[in-house]
Amino acid sequence: MMTVKTHPTAYARLIKNFDLKTDAALKAYTSFKVGGPADLLSIPESRAELEQLLKAAADLDIPVTFFGGGTNLLITDKGIRGLVIIIRQLKSDIRIKKTDSDHHLLTVETGQHLSSLCRFALDNSLTGLEFAAGIPGTVGGAIAMNAGTVKGQMSDVIESITVWNPQTQKFVARKRDTLAFSYRNLDISDIIIEADFQLKKGDKKHIEALFNQTLANKKNSQPVSQKSAGCFFKNPKTGMPAGELIEKSGLKGTRINDAMVSEHHANYIVNLNNATSCDILALKQLVQKTVFEKFHINLETEVRIEGE
Ligand SMILES: Cc1cc2nc3c(=O)[nH]c(=O)nc-3n(C[C@H](O)[C@H](O)[C@H](O)COP(=O)(O)OP(=O)(O)OC[C@H]3O[C@@H](n4cnc5c(N)ncnc54)[C@H](O)[C@@H]3O)c2cc1C
Repeated sequence: MMTVKTHPTAYARLIKNFDLKTDAALKAYTSFKVGGPADLLSIPESRAELEQLLKAAADLDIPVTFFGGGTNLLITDKGIRGLVIIIRQLKSDIRIKKTDSDHHLLTVETGQHLSSLCRFALDNSLTGLEFAAGIPGTVGGAIAMNAGTVKGQMSDVIESITVWNPQTQKFVARKRDTLAFSYRNLDISDIIIEADFQLKKGDKKHIEALFNQTLANKKNSQPVSQKSAGCFFKNPKTGMPAGELIEKSGLKGTRINDAMVSEHHANYIVNLNNATSCDILALKQLVQKTVFEKFHINLETEVRIEGE
C-alpha cells in the first residue's frame, strides 16, 4: 500500500510523466539491507532523464533525496518521503581526457563503481587510487564522502566535478580549489554527475601489488562480507581510533536483536539477518553512551542517516 502522505496530486503528475516505482522498498538498494520505502523511486539511465526529472520535481515542489551504491547509508524504518533518485546507472565509459608524459586526466560518470575506476587505473598503469581498493559503492558516493583510508582519500586525486545546480537548473563544473573536502566529507548538497581525476603514470606491477595488499589487509581486518555500511563512527581527531575506543569499552559482540557490534572490527555494526533500522540506531546510542562514560569522547557517525 502506497505511503504517499503529502503532495498526492504532485506525485500523480510526476508518476504520469516518468517511469517511477512507488512505495519502493529501499533496503534492497543498501548494503545494510534495512530501511523502509521511498514514496517515489527513480534510477535514471541518462543525464537527460535525470535533468528532466529534477526540473519536474522542482516545479512540483517534491523533495528529492539521492544516493549511489547505498554502502554508507542507514535508512530509517519509516523510509523517505518524496522522490529518491539513485545514481548508479549513469556510468558511460571511463575516458582518458588529457595526457602528458607524467599525468593523465580521467573522466568518469559518477554512477560508475569505484572498483571499475580502480580497475581502469590499474589496466592503464596509473597510480593514485590504490588506497581505494575494496571500498564499495559508486564514484559519486566516494567523492561526496571523501572516502579513503590512512593511505589516501578522494580529495588527493580529484581535479574537478560536474554538479546539478538547483538554482540555475543547469549542470556546472567545479574545480578542485572550490571544493571544501574534509575528513569523510565534501561540503556539497548538489548531485555530482561527472568527475575528472588526476593520476600519474606508474609501474603496473607495483600498482597491482599495492592494490592486492590493500585488499588483503581489508579482508583480514574488516567484516567485508557481512551486511553493514562500513565504519559506523568517524575516528576522533586525536587519540585512539573509534574501533579501539569501542573495543576497549568492552562492546565487541554487543547485540540489540540482530544488530551487533562486529567481533571482527569494533567500528562496524553488522546486520546479522533481520535487524531493523531501530535496532541499529539503538545500538549506535548504546555505543556512544558507553564510550562517553569511559573516555569522555563523543563519537560522531560516519554513516549517513536518511529518512523520517
Ligand atoms: C564493507 C564496507 C567497507 C567500506 N570501506 C570503506 C573504506 O575503507 N573507506 C571509506 O571511506 N568508506 C568505506 N565504506 C563506506 C562506503 O563504501 C563509502 O563511503 C563509499 O564511498 C560510499 O559510496 P556509495 O556510492 O555507496 O554512497 P552512498 O552510500 O550511496 O551515499 C553516501 C552519501 O553520498 C551522497 N552521494 C551519493 N552519490 C552521490 C552523488 N552522485 N552526488 C552527490 N552526493 C552523492 C549521498 O547523498 C550520501 O549522503 C565501506 C562500506 C562497506 C559496506
